[in-house]
Amino acid sequence: MKRIYLDNAATTKLAPAVFEAMTPYLTEIYGNPSSPHYFGQQVAAAIDKARQQVAAGIGADAGEIIFMSGGTEADNMAIRGIAERYSSRGKHIITTAVEHHAVLHTCQLLEKHGYEVTYLPVDEYGRVTVDQVREAIRPDTVLVSVMFANNEVGTIMPIPEIGALCREKGVFFHTDAVQAVGHLPIDVKAMNIDMLSMSAHKFHGPKGVGALYVRKGIMLPALIQGGAQERNRRAGTENVPGIVGMGKAMELAVGSLEENAAKMTALRDRLIRELPKRIPEIKLNGHPTDRLPNNVNYSIKYIEGESILLMLDLNGIVASSGSACTSGSLDPSHVLLAMGLTHEVAHGSVRMTLSEETTEEDVEYVLDVLPRVAERLRRMSPLYHG
Ligand SMILES: *Cc1c(COP(=O)(O)O)cnc(C)c1O
Repeated sequence: MKRIYLDNAATTKLAPAVFEAMTPYLTEIYGNPSSPHYFGQQVAAAIDKARQQVAAGIGADAGEIIFMSGGTEADNMAIRGIAERYSSRGKHIITTAVEHHAVLHTCQLLEKHGYEVTYLPVDEYGRVTVDQVREAIRPDTVLVSVMFANNEVGTIMPIPEIGALCREKGVFFHTDAVQAVGHLPIDVKAMNIDMLSMSAHKFHGPKGVGALYVRKGIMLPALIQGGAQERNRRAGTENVPGIVGMGKAMELAVGSLEENAAKMTALRDRLIRELPKRIPEIKLNGHPTDRLPNNVNYSIKYIEGESILLMLDLNGIVASSGSACTSGSLDPSHVLLAMGLTHEVAHGSVRMTLSEETTEEDVEYVLDVLPRVAERLRRMSPLYHG
């Protein structure tokens, strides 16, 4: 059976060219980059190149990129690092109610250590405004952390505006851009971003590697103690194949960003337009236009997202009910609840996230199968009287 993968927000397929770039570093080029001999220096040069590639993709300088294990570690390092190093400036942090758990749980941990955290509420589309941030900033605010684009509903936050405000107020600004990198144009300098988290496996790179951009001049203490790798900011022998793969993946993603975004946006919008014509009483989650080019998220009233996913899976369509991190738990998504959905409607959500390999035929197949699945489940639902 043909399988259509529509869970690219959870993770993406490794690009063949990325695999090719990585292979030598899993086989014959195996030196430790900290070693001063030929074997080590050959590998150190490969890391330098990857650092340039990653930096170029977001408008940063190579020295501002710290490689680490992924988006989760990058979020932890940015938030805990600022809290530890700059606590004399104040112990108040501003974030949003719809962040990834890597940010939310880190902020919750800091609350146990004397920090006060403001979790800004979002509008019906999952957005905060720059005015909300302005009103929340206090003399003791040290950090604002607002995600670039939401992983569940795709909504894009007003990042350049928040960046300009934070710069004006002298408050550090971190953004979790894990879903945005490779999908949306990013320029950390023009957008006044101080720290930015990214993860390779969300843009066709390998899993287990990511990076934090830290603007020059900001001193973050290391989370992991040990050797002097990453200029004393992240100890431990580097994930060399991963880092090389991340560099290549960034180069590819940014190189074809516009073309891929246009292609995915057209398919996304066909799904967004057609599904409500074919399924009555469904609700689009997230902003209608200010959203990631690959994200479609609908709540199908009266039925359970989990049953929809199961039936879609049986028909060869792989989707998600929200974040991969919370599936398996029966709690509805904190993002959908923060947007004001009832538990019932939040439970009926289906997220489909496309890739540049998604075809028109795939979309037509979904438009054929999903309405039939919804109708069948609704006929069995005690809540539905249509
Ligand atoms: C996937 C994701 C993360 C976590 O990244 P990992 O590399 O899997 O740890 C963090 N934030 C967002 C918005 C994500 O989508």
